[in-house]
Amino acid sequence: MQIARISLESGPRYAIVDRDTDEYVVLAGDPIFQGLDTTGQRVPMRNTRVLSPIIPRSKVVAVGRNYAAHIEEMGSATPENPLLFFKPNTSVIGPDDAIIQPAWSNEISYEAELAVVIGRPCKDVPIERVDDVIYGYTIANDVTARDVQRAEEQWARAKGFDTSCPLGPVIDLDYEPSDVAIRSYVNGELRQDGRSSQMIRPVNELVSYISHAFSLLPGDVILTGTPAGVGTIVPGDTVEIEIDGLGTLSNELRST
Ligand code: MG
Repeated sequence: MQIARISLESGPRYAIVDRDTDEYVVLAGDPIFQGLDTTGQRVPMRNTRVLSPIIPRSKVVAVGRNYAAHIEEMGSATPENPLLFFKPNTSVIGPDDAIIQPAWSNEISYEAELAVVIGRPCKDVPIERVDDVIYGYTIANDVTARDVQRAEEQWARAKGFDTSCPLGPVIDLDYEPSDVAIRSYVNGELRQDGRSSQMIRPVNELVSYISHAFSLLPGDVILTGTPAGVGTIVPGDTVEIEIDGLGTLSNELRST
């Protein structure tokens, strides 16, 4: 099952994606907290605006340097432990929203990433119980001001600025993440072409590790690192990220 968040005249609503009829089945509430009761309303997919499927209430935790080929292209070293950083919830935007290039950066890069959505409060989760705390999976773009990342030891500004975390288009609740293709395109041209099986630490190890540092709450999002092929984009460029079974997340870069 896949969940989307859509914009209706009455406001943002969660919905089940019905691919048989190309409709959204509108839900009564937030599915993470209130389950999957429907209102009975069905909305055609066509001409319906899709929003970020989640606005994290507490945090986005991101993992750096989790693919060997990406570490190599950056000239970085493989970290002994997963390298963690935060992106604030104010960085989240949805499908087709514009990424706004800050005036203080001249080098914006895209990073295609598989994203995990947490479904229940948890802490110190053993690897073998990680599946129990995952709500589902979506696509993320870990947009990065690369010049600022190089210049500053902490990545808060380089990776946490407004619009630097596109998410969507859906959350898949039945997803098998261990070996799926993760691709990005800039203006239709293939740039990244990796597989989740190339992660140095797979999803279950990452979620367990992160939960030993931070309590995870429903709606928290974890970004699992990017494969090789990152590069600079300029205003007017459109980045599309495609992950098997999760659809395509598309966002254009615009100047301030
Ligand atoms: Mg990243």
